[in-house]
Amino acid sequence: MYSHRSTHGPVDLAFTDRYGGVSGVPFDSLNLALEGDDDADRCAENLRIVIDDFAPGAMPVNLHQVHGSRVVLVEDWRSSSPPSADGLVARDQPDIVLVVRAADCVPVLFADPGARVIGVAHSGRPGLAAGIVPATVERMRAVGASEITAWIGPHVCGACYEVPEKMQAEVGAIEPAAVATTSWGTPSLDIGAGVRAQLERDGVRVVDVSRCTRESADLYSYRRDGRSSGRLAGLIRLNT
Ligand SMILES: [Zn+2]
Repeated sequence: MYSHRSTHGPVDLAFTDRYGGVSGVPFDSLNLALEGDDDADRCAENLRIVIDDFAPGAMPVNLHQVHGSRVVLVEDWRSSSPPSADGLVARDQPDIVLVVRAADCVPVLFADPGARVIGVAHSGRPGLAAGIVPATVERMRAVGASEITAWIGPHVCGACYEVPEKMQAEVGAIEPAAVATTSWGTPSLDIGAGVRAQLERDGVRVVDVSRCTRESADLYSYRRDGRSSGRLAGLIRLNT
C-alpha cells in the first residue's frame, strides 16, 4: 500500500504504491486517479481503503490538478468539488488528509509540525517552470510556518525522462538544476532535482524518499504505461 510512510511529531505522511486496492488490469490495483479511464467507483473505493488505513475517520481533500502555480488554503475553500490548483495548505486542521496525485510528476509533502501547518504540491515540468513548489512554501509561511521540511515522493528520474533538446533548454533557462541526460545519452530533465533546488533556495529542509516510477513496477508511470497508468498519491495529515 505504501512506498513510504513516516511520522514526525504530530504529522503523519505517506506515498502509496500500486498494491492493496480493487482496480482490475491494467490499473491494478490501488489506482487513486481522480479521473481517467479506470472505473470511478473503484477509484473512490481505493481512496476509502487508503484513508481508512492511514487516518481512519479523516476527510480527504483532493485537488483537480492543472499543472499551474495556484495554491489553495483549505479553510478558504467552501465548495464540495476539488479546487483546480496544484498546491494545498492547511493550518491546524486535524480532521483532514491532504491528497496529491502523480504518475511521473513530482508529488511533494510539506510540514512545519511546530506551527501545525501542512501542505502538498504537484510539480511536473510545467509546474517546475511555473514555480508551484516555491508558491506553496510562500503560502505556508504566510499562515505562520517557519521551519519547513519537504518530502519528495516517487517520480520519473532524470535518466528516464527524455525530452526534445529545445524543451530541455527552455526549462533549463528557468531551473538549471533540472538539466540532465538519459541513460541512453539523449537530452532529459530531472524534475526532482529542479524541485530540490527550488526548495533549498527557499531554505526548506529536503527529505528525498523517491524512487523512479518508470523503473519501478510497483509504482504507476505514465511514461511507461500511457493511458493505462493509474495514479499514486502523497498523503499528509496533522494529528490533534
Ligand atoms: Zn528512471
